[in-house]
Amino acid sequence: MGMIHRFDVVIVGAGPAGMCAGMYAGRSMLKTVVLERGFPGGELLNTELIEDYPGFERILGHELAQKFADHAAKFGAEFRNGVVVERVTKRDDGTFETHTESGDVYESPVVIITAGGTPVKLGVPGELEFAGKGVSYCAICDGAFFRGHTIAVIGGGDAATEEADFLTRYAEKVYLIHRREELRASKILQSRVFANSKIEPVWNTTVEEILGDEQGLVYNLKLRDVNTQEVRDLAVTGVFVFIGFRPNTGIIEGHVEHDEMGYLRTDANMHTSIRGLFAAGDLRSQLTRQVTTAVGDATTAAIAAEKYLKAIADGNPNAEIGGTGGYTA
Ligand SMILES: Cc1cc2nc3c(=O)[nH]c(=O)nc-3n(C[C@H](O)[C@H](O)[C@H](O)COP(=O)(O)OP(=O)(O)OC[C@H]3O[C@@H](n4cnc5c(N)ncnc54)[C@H](O)[C@@H]3O)c2cc1C
Repeated sequence: MGMIHRFDVVIVGAGPAGMCAGMYAGRSMLKTVVLERGFPGGELLNTELIEDYPGFERILGHELAQKFADHAAKFGAEFRNGVVVERVTKRDDGTFETHTESGDVYESPVVIITAGGTPVKLGVPGELEFAGKGVSYCAICDGAFFRGHTIAVIGGGDAATEEADFLTRYAEKVYLIHRREELRASKILQSRVFANSKIEPVWNTTVEEILGDEQGLVYNLKLRDVNTQEVRDLAVTGVFVFIGFRPNTGIIEGHVEHDEMGYLRTDANMHTSIRGLFAAGDLRSQLTRQVTTAVGDATTAAIAAEKYLKAIADGNPNAEIGGTGGYTA
């Protein structure tokens, strides 16, 4: 039997959104806990360099993560690391129960879910078999293992192009394999890729299979040209997959409004269709997913959560939250 913990605000996930929500909720003197299955940082821990967070022209991902965590802790948010949230349920009395793998349950009138997303898999033979033996979803974690190698990056968005460019620090050659004939990435990232002589784009091509050698390491890709259907081999010793993320929303029990991709829909206050459940960051349905948008969402979510708690305390839990604008000091 696990323990019961009671908080005003339970935040699931300590990425940029969770840490920022923790900072605001803590600063509002709310008893706040941030539950994280690993270490605080989220995707920042998988990103070498951040160049587009205002005030920091260049900062290492893990350094920015540390600053966020320190700042939230300074205002009183409690971090509990290595805590895997299994499900979030809502009782009839309006209290949320956040159930963890260890059996501990966190009770709170508000939950802010900031659990981000999980990399989408290619779903081809060899991918799972060779994961960690040549197949990777994290350039910063595994790039250094491919010094002097010829490798492939799969995808055509911001993550694929940014990481293809990054991986040329180690790899001799990087094939950027994309199923379309142009990249989806932002223009600045595209221009870096096209200016990098170590990167060779491979257009209109999908991966059919990842093949390994007798030592169990990747040595070859089977590729298909989507126009001609021609299948060919490409010799590579590493495959980095960056074809998107799935929002980590499966922990919410019961129906919650989401878009066709499964990202949570919220109102302008980051309130989901479940009253008292707020969402912020990469798992929210929106135009773009960046550190800036994650912390913007989280700011709104934490302030709206505070107003929601006030409404409950006033005996009017169904009152409209905010909407009157204004600045908070
Ligand atoms: C390779 C790469 C490079 C990027 N580069 C940039 C960049 O240069 N600039 C930029 O602005 N953005 C960049 N981004 C995007 C940016 O990192 C994300 O938008 C941002 O991290 C989203 O923050 P988040 O808090 O919503 O989610 P995340 O950062 O994904 O954090 C979610 C957290 O929730 C935790 N979690 C999930 N499920 C559970 C559970 N069940 N129980 C407990 N904890 C859980 C996870 O462990 C994680 O720590 C990059 C992303 C990637 C993948």
